[in-house]
Amino acid sequence: MNQVVDVPGLVSELRAAQPEWERLGVEARTRWLRRYAEWLLDNQERIVAALAADTGKPTVEARIEFTVPVDLIKYSARHARGWLRPGHPAPPNLLNAMKQATVTHRPYPVVAVITPWNFPLGLSLCDAIPALLAGAAVVVKPASATPRSVIAAIQGWAEIGAPPVFRVLHGPGSSGAALVEQADFVQFTGSTEVGIRIAERCAQRLVPCGLELGGKDAAIVLADADLDLAVRGIAWGALANAGQMCTSVERVYVESAVYPRFVERLSAHVGALRRGADVAPLVTTDQFDLVRAHLVDALAAGARVAVGGNTDRDAKWVQPTVLTGVDHTMAVVCEETFGPLIPVIEVADADEAVALANSSRFGLSASVWTRDTRRGRAIAARLDAGSVNINDSHANVFFFAAPMDGWKQSGLGGRFGGADSVLRYCRPQTVTAPRAPIPYQRYLLWFPYTPSGTVVLGRIMRALAATGRRRWGW
Ligand code: NDP
Repeated sequence: MNQVVDVPGLVSELRAAQPEWERLGVEARTRWLRRYAEWLLDNQERIVAALAADTGKPTVEARIEFTVPVDLIKYSARHARGWLRPGHPAPPNLLNAMKQATVTHRPYPVVAVITPWNFPLGLSLCDAIPALLAGAAVVVKPASATPRSVIAAIQGWAEIGAPPVFRVLHGPGSSGAALVEQADFVQFTGSTEVGIRIAERCAQRLVPCGLELGGKDAAIVLADADLDLAVRGIAWGALANAGQMCTSVERVYVESAVYPRFVERLSAHVGALRRGADVAPLVTTDQFDLVRAHLVDALAAGARVAVGGNTDRDAKWVQPTVLTGVDHTMAVVCEETFGPLIPVIEVADADEAVALANSSRFGLSASVWTRDTRRGRAIAARLDAGSVNINDSHANVFFFAAPMDGWKQSGLGGRFGGADSVLRYCRPQTVTAPRAPIPYQRYLLWFPYTPSGTVVLGRIMRALAATGRRRWGW
């Protein structure tokens, strides 16, 4: 199904169409996005079917994935005009009093959005929409394993007759690499390894990139937690999308006072989940092999299966599995698994949980489970993670008014964050102009430098820059 695509040609077409899109202004762009949202809703079932067919995810999860970008359009369209309004910063000192500065937000002309197979549609659109609102042209390179929903959705942009600034590049990873050579901004979601390669190339080209990479999110269960809430929330946090989420709960630290009860209840809940209806097989055989390797290695090193543990390579099926007897020497606790395994570790207290949670090279998000929200916030402030959810999983992913930022090897720049979601695709442009016509003789900084002029200017600048008696020292 892969096509041979002339990547430089595609980017040149977008580059040619972009200035007119920018000139339209944010209100007209917002109108196009709203029409696009209507088209998406009118074509929901077709796109959701393509998404479910490509990924094998339960229809309910495919529908949620479809709805998030539609909701993002509604939210962003409401605010984009305000976010992009030009600013007029007040003069910083008397010397600039006669100047007016206007700061506008000009888009990077061509934005590349490169996305993985776990949320092909949601991630592609959620990164493309703010860039389009900013006035950029956007090309999406979806994962080659799951392109169909993305292709179907982006066709809609042409079908509504919108300006030709939103295209899809369907091809292998090498076409993503070719795109990185051409784009003015690269927004990438995927593995840390490929993310680092992209960052290196962007650094050489001096173009910015946003990276949303892997995670190894910790859940911390304190002794005072509502255990039923924690069990259900953590099971969903670990197993939604069969655990193939960057923000999946991938390790659980439980205070010893409640550890046996937590494991027992979590195992009962996870054991009752239905294959296919609640938890689907994995998307790719490569991913199956990686998850199974983590499971086999852990068992060989002494881990125990509290529930689950069965696998079927032909079906890419890993039964949701709760593991005990695990520790930080095991890949299942240290490396991103991206599958339905839940290692649970007993800790003496919150301090030990925080230290272990922070011992990871990843820092995407985390969760804290406690009846004492103040204590939860205090623990959040000690965690090295871009987001922390108290008594919930994945909550930050849907809260697009706030930034979703990966720390450490989980990323750089992330996504979302209200105004930042659009402004990150823009370069600020400052235009200064005189507030009133000034005769050129009054431009003290210009040539020719004269001894008296230089002295006067030096004194004025020092008086303005310094404070107290130092203002008047020469
Ligand atoms: P990759 O990072 O390999 O791929 C992500 C996207 O980048 C795909 O569209 C891929 O294309 C493309 N790509 C691959 N190589 C390059 C390159 N050199 N330059 C530009 N683009 C490139 O991730 P995978 O999807 O293979 O998943 C591997 C691992 O990454 C998972 O096991 C998981 O641990 C992690 N991951 C993390 C995600 C997150 O949300 N943080 C999401 C998905 C995966 P193609 O598909 O054609 O190879």
